[in-house]
Amino acid sequence: MELKELKGVGPKTLQGLFDLGINSIDDLVRYYPYRYNVYKPINIRDCIDNSTITIIGRVVSKPSFFRGNKVKSIIRFKFETSNNIINVTIFNQPYLTKSLYINKELTLVGKYDELTNTFTVSKIFNDVLDKTLIEGVYHSSSNINRSSLVKLINNILLSDYEVNEIIPSYINDKYELMNTKDALKVIHNPIDNSSYKKALLKLKYEELFEFMFKINILKIRKELNDNFVIKDFNDDSLKRILSLIPFELTKGQMDAINEIIEDFRSLRRMNRLVLGDVGSGKTIVAFISLILNKESGYQGCMIAPTEVLAIQHFENFKSLFNDLDIKVELLTGNTSKADKNRINKELLNGDIDILIGTHALLEDNIDFNNLGLVVTDEQHRFGVNQRNILRNKGEAVDVLYMSATPIPRTYALTIYGDMDISLIKDKPNNRKEIKTLKYTFKDLDKAFDIVNEELNKNHQVYIVSPLIEDEESDINDINNIKELVNKYLVSNKKVGILHGKLKNVEKDKIINSFKEGKIDVIISTTVIEVGVDVSNATCILIFNAERFGLSTLHQLRGRVGRNSLESKCILLSDKNSERFDCLVESNDGFYISEMDLKLRGSGDLFGIRQHGDMSFKIANIVSDNRILLQCKKDSEEFIKDNIDTNFSNFSYYRNIVNDLVNKD
Ligand code: ADP
Ligand code: MG
Repeated sequence: MELKELKGVGPKTLQGLFDLGINSIDDLVRYYPYRYNVYKPINIRDCIDNSTITIIGRVVSKPSFFRGNKVKSIIRFKFETSNNIINVTIFNQPYLTKSLYINKELTLVGKYDELTNTFTVSKIFNDVLDKTLIEGVYHSSSNINRSSLVKLINNILLSDYEVNEIIPSYINDKYELMNTKDALKVIHNPIDNSSYKKALLKLKYEELFEFMFKINILKIRKELNDNFVIKDFNDDSLKRILSLIPFELTKGQMDAINEIIEDFRSLRRMNRLVLGDVGSGKTIVAFISLILNKESGYQGCMIAPTEVLAIQHFENFKSLFNDLDIKVELLTGNTSKADKNRINKELLNGDIDILIGTHALLEDNIDFNNLGLVVTDEQHRFGVNQRNILRNKGEAVDVLYMSATPIPRTYALTIYGDMDISLIKDKPNNRKEIKTLKYTFKDLDKAFDIVNEELNKNHQVYIVSPLIEDEESDINDINNIKELVNKYLVSNKKVGILHGKLKNVEKDKIINSFKEGKIDVIISTTVIEVGVDVSNATCILIFNAERFGLSTLHQLRGRVGRNSLESKCILLSDKNSERFDCLVESNDGFYISEMDLKLRGSGDLFGIRQHGDMSFKIANIVSDNRILLQCKKDSEEFIKDNIDTNFSNFSYYRNIVNDLVNKD
């Protein structure tokens, strides 16, 4: 069954689902809440401080309705709850007036101010909750709201739709794992902690088992020593290339390049990950590899997760290596049909030496004459399968991945078990350390003084705020930030706003204007694209920094300090300030990720939203490390027992293997 056959799914809803990356029914039921709201009615006298509480009771006065100056509307009435009469205020929900009348029973969620005996409502249920309600909170999009999403998911789970049980049954039995459909029901509508934990275990196990299965298959594949070619080029080539680069390479960069050259010249196919902190200069390593690959007589390509990054690399390559006789092209989803056709042709006849682009490169009709090297930038944004699509577009393609995810070595060995790793530990030495400062909101003006100082030098600034994406408050919060910025920012500066509801094209447009210097300040309510390189940006101000993990903060901070200008990162937070000390003390991403692990028990190594390979929907390789290691072992055994029969009893895994291996 397909999504569009579901009841209640019209074109708009379908688009909404696609926006969320939901392309099948299976995706839909596995679209998990990212947190839960728990509503448990309490006696209002038990309310502590300023916390959000849930109360039940009935309306005891006729609601009055006002239009406000600053707010759209206010509804007020008296409410009886656990033998108290309190005042209730509801902002900006004028449509509620119709359903509120004397004696109407309600459940209200909000905050109680004892001094004025007033309860300010943030959420209202049209009846009385008789028990605790746990409600999943989902990322939603402008084309589909939470309630439609929940309805779709629950309809499927209540129907006789069969969810694929992917864990081999002997493993299910061994660990007494819950069946998948039940686990999904619980995850979307948890009732108690013990079943929730069991459900979580099943779904995490599934995810990590499949992941480790793929990694182990790839590893075996590598050991089978498949096709290879020996690449050779004139030793002067490297000298010539280096002479065109306006800076001296770091030791880490040179070591990585030498390891790559060794791979080129050896009797094996390269499968190498370049792991280096943000700003360590991985791009140039990729470029040099691409050129040497070309000098050896092969075409190469480089894929980046977004158009902005692809364009950035393309422009950068052209400006650095203009003097070399190399034809480089750009291909993205926005390339015109005519250009695309031309590129297709020139790729096939070998005129194009290097192709840089986005996911558009993965399309079936993109064929090369003799592809020899594939570079994947920000590799964690791509899945294992996507990785292989490109390498299969040539005979014996070398593969190079770039990753800024600072990950401790032990984890790297598990999850990158199929790759060789080049570690770039140093940073270009023209860099000044980014100065990191902590402020509380009380000192907001001081924080903006620093921002303004940078702007007055005609430098550019990022302002980042971690918003909760899906709640109605989103737009309000953006407005709040805009107001603050208007209040504190020096005038005459152009400000662009990036938020979750913008389409990718619009986002790219804003980022590009920022790059071109047409915008001085970017306010971003989503995480700014990792990899964006604007060297004139010298300051980043991060609101509510406590909502980000240390590694994410470090990645964000890496947007500045991209040349010899002094750069600053300002963390604004009223909470948890000791946690930030290691950011203030250190600019080393590897150290910070270790600290993150120590402090939180789990890290957010991969940022808020995860993608591609690391796009575990529910598992976390760090906090679920024990499950991961178990899955590694279990999948190795599973493979050992079944590889000779090509997984004849396990069609799900046979298909995975075919996808991963047999395509070449
Ligand atoms: P990342 O490793 O985060 O992808 P980039 O490759 O984008 O980093 O490099 C960041 C910036 O540093 C770029 O502007 C690049 O030109 C510059 N850069 C790279 N290597 C050096 C170096 N050895 N010396 C000086 N600047 C460098
Ligand atoms: Mg990069």
